[in-house]
Amino acid sequence: MTVHRNLARIMLPESLQFDRQHIWHPYTSLTSPLAVYAVDSARGVRLRFADGREVIDGMASWWCVIHGYNHPLLNDALKSQLDRMAHVMFGGLTHEPAVELCRRLVDMTPEPLEHVFLSDSGSVSVEVAMKMAIQYWYGRKEPGRQRFLTIRNGYHGDTFGAMSVCDPVNGMHHLFSGMLPGQLFAPAPGIAPGEQWDESAISPFAALLEEHASEIAAVILEPVVQGAGGMRFYHPEYLRRVRELCDMHGVLLIADEIATGFGRTGRLFACEHADVVPDILCVGKALTGGYMSLAATLATDEVARGACADNQVFMHGPTFMGNPLACSVASVSLELLAGNQWQQSVERIEKWLKAELLPLNELAAVEEARVFGAIGVLEMKERLDVARVQSMLVERGVWLRPFGKLLYTMPPYVMSDEELAEVTAAMREVAASL
Ligand code: PMP
Repeated sequence: MTVHRNLARIMLPESLQFDRQHIWHPYTSLTSPLAVYAVDSARGVRLRFADGREVIDGMASWWCVIHGYNHPLLNDALKSQLDRMAHVMFGGLTHEPAVELCRRLVDMTPEPLEHVFLSDSGSVSVEVAMKMAIQYWYGRKEPGRQRFLTIRNGYHGDTFGAMSVCDPVNGMHHLFSGMLPGQLFAPAPGIAPGEQWDESAISPFAALLEEHASEIAAVILEPVVQGAGGMRFYHPEYLRRVRELCDMHGVLLIADEIATGFGRTGRLFACEHADVVPDILCVGKALTGGYMSLAATLATDEVARGACADNQVFMHGPTFMGNPLACSVASVSLELLAGNQWQQSVERIEKWLKAELLPLNELAAVEEARVFGAIGVLEMKERLDVARVQSMLVERGVWLRPFGKLLYTMPPYVMSDEELAEVTAAMREVAASL
């Protein structure tokens, strides 16, 4: 077979036809799928379609590609690791790429988080976090603590444990009600960052926690930014109060920073907005700069020792745990963050998004325009027609993936002002056309 490394690969109509008939895409129907666009290659912040068109990617491929595509240092990390070994099992073996990455993760997260469990994806890292919390209470001789308390509008992944703590409506709990464990849901926080804090906002959460404390293994939430459950931002004081209440009732706190971690909200981790440290932390997405699937669950010494009390092993071990290729590219991605002025980039993007998107609050079709860190959201009054909006955006040279009533951008940190201007102008045009 000939491999054309640098030539554009035209995608044949038969391939698109095969895709349509045989391949599921995320959150789509197989019987009436939405159109997909064939990508040939990607560089910087641009995707090149197989038909030669180029679009600016305002999604950073579902929020992961923070340094841009085809980054020479990330490419080199993978190439040089590939010549040593692509993969070895992690059971009974270890290697420098995993050790280096975990050392970096321990160093860059708050001090109490010192133990790392590597896994394949964000959802799995959440499963691992939930299992850790349950095992911790077994170790502490309180095996009755098996439930989780969370807040509405959350999203934590698509596997069963993770799905059980997603918002019941967005997470489609009714479809899986026979399988999902019954978790506890407090109302969504309600107060946005910058708004006047009102202590009554925490009362329903506090009441649920108090009532069920003896059955709760952990509270799990996305700190400050709720992503796929609705792209909403809440007051850091809420998170601070959650930490205090968890401490008061002796309940663990799991922070899901899969979307927020590595700078997206203007802090390296969103928990820093509230100056809190979780007992268990999940990271993923941008961990590898969007190159490969990899996630990590970090735990305090207290949690790790509890979970492994009485010589109990921790019951999880994915086949591709600690994959050396993924670890190598993740280490370089974290190194780039360390030296890359990400904070200035995120501040610059936030400033731009605020200037360009917040005035759209005036438009009739817009329910709310909101910006936090490098996240710009237009929530419309009505659901968006994804196919129509997407084709309009592509015509305009911009890639965004709307969902529900939301048109939003989470650009790569390396996006220039000129490219950002293209993205926000396209968002404005869509909003004005509704
Ligand atoms: N938690 C959060 C906060 C997320 O945003 C996501 C992905 N959107 C996940 C968990 C699940 O991650 P993955 O898709 O890698 O399984």
